[in-house]
Amino acid sequence: MIDIAIVGAGPAGLLTALRLHQRGIRPTIYESVPELKPLGVGVDIKTVGTAELDDLGLLDEFRSISVDAEDSIFFNHYGQEIYAEKCGVHMGYLHEQRFVHRGRLQLLLYRAVLDRLGDVVALGARVTGYAQDETGVSLHLEHRDGRTETVHHEAVIAADGIKSAVRRQMHPDQAEPEFSGITMWRGTTLRPPFRGGHTICHIGDPHISSMIVYPIAHDVDGTGLDLINWVVETNGEETIEDWNQIGDITDVIPLYDTVEIPFLDVQQLMRDAQEVYLFPLIRHAPLDGWVDGRVVLLGDAAHAMYPRGGNGITQAMIDARVVVEHLVAHPDDPHRAFVEYDEARRAVVNRIADNMRGEGYEVIRRIVADRTDGKPFDDIEEVLPLAEADGIFSRYHALVGSPRPGHEAHETTGFRTGEAATR
Ligand SMILES: Cc1cc2nc3c(=O)[nH]c(=O)nc-3n(C[C@H](O)[C@H](O)[C@H](O)COP(=O)(O)OP(=O)(O)OC[C@H]3O[C@@H](n4cnc5c(N)ncnc54)[C@H](O)[C@@H]3O)c2cc1C
Repeated sequence: MIDIAIVGAGPAGLLTALRLHQRGIRPTIYESVPELKPLGVGVDIKTVGTAELDDLGLLDEFRSISVDAEDSIFFNHYGQEIYAEKCGVHMGYLHEQRFVHRGRLQLLLYRAVLDRLGDVVALGARVTGYAQDETGVSLHLEHRDGRTETVHHEAVIAADGIKSAVRRQMHPDQAEPEFSGITMWRGTTLRPPFRGGHTICHIGDPHISSMIVYPIAHDVDGTGLDLINWVVETNGEETIEDWNQIGDITDVIPLYDTVEIPFLDVQQLMRDAQEVYLFPLIRHAPLDGWVDGRVVLLGDAAHAMYPRGGNGITQAMIDARVVVEHLVAHPDDPHRAFVEYDEARRAVVNRIADNMRGEGYEVIRRIVADRTDGKPFDDIEEVLPLAEADGIFSRYHALVGSPRPGHEAHETTGFRTGEAATR
């Protein structure tokens, strides 16, 4: 049995450990933080992600901490409805699309790893670099108490996130990440369920600002309230790329003065937030390789992308399955397994990451704003015919690996692959 180390106990590292365990391999995981806490806000797990969790035998547990997505509705800057589509099984997919708190999902995966693999996670162990010889990889660790150590494994899967130390060593000449000019405010608010508690709303004129709102937990602490996740994107100042940066939403709230949605007061939602984080959208140039000998990158370490549409976590889930399939096919040749995984995944994921820098299906809000000159409309069919909007959505779903059941991915309006700038 191959002796593998995983760097990082984020969702990607934990999922890889669970996939390895399914195939009889017991890895060791090195994680820099001394304790895993439920950090982050909401993520939108599309049907392909739910399918991965189902395949890992985690569907019931996942359901117990998440919310079934039924409807996805798009509104302009006045709260007029532009388009609506069904989600997940309600659209005819085999699996549900679900909304979940990122930190709760990570802890679910962590508990599954401890239950199934035992004590394989070394917490408080930061990987600072690696060296290779013909027998494997030496990982250099720095422990919380300042102690350093070198450990040896036959192969290493690095899932150490957007600021990956392994990626930095593997690609010392990689272009510096660049601020896009767009800032995200991400928050959660407790409030009574809206529209029955299963709807995601996409709101606003992207020239001004965009907002996405969805529930990530029902009946929080028996209060009958939903925990609502919301994200606002607009132009902002450059800040560090840190998921835990606290933000102030005060200046952004007036951008939503015109929005009137009958079932949702979005300004109140922002005012009532229990936590708000700031996150700058940073462009990471796509890598031209994920493999260095017996070391491979996976998840955000391989393909940091804008956190839009839940694609970061969903693609990490697929990475985990694919890398393990190739390791099982070549148990004596991890380098070959990693090269095949790179060939299978890198171009596909780089294309998705590139698209996430554009607008994806959110482009329909910009089309409507452009065609109405930012004014309210009388009849949406005269502005954005249903067939045109359907075409945009069909193409998007096909691109991210989940073609819409019963819909042709025909060409109508293309996605903009350029930067989705606001204001
Ligand atoms: C604190 C936090 C909050 C987040 N919140 C959100 C959110 O609200 N919404 C969203 O869409 N995405 C969020 N993300 C990103 C999201 O988790 C990822 O896009 C996706 O799940 C893929 O996960 P990953 O495991 O590749 O990366 P990550 O989730 O970033 O996990 C990487 C892990 O590696 C560890 N690590 C980093 N460097 C080292 C090192 N040198 N040695 C050992 N361990 C190391 C980190 O502590 C972390 O646990 C967040 C990430 C973090 C770390």
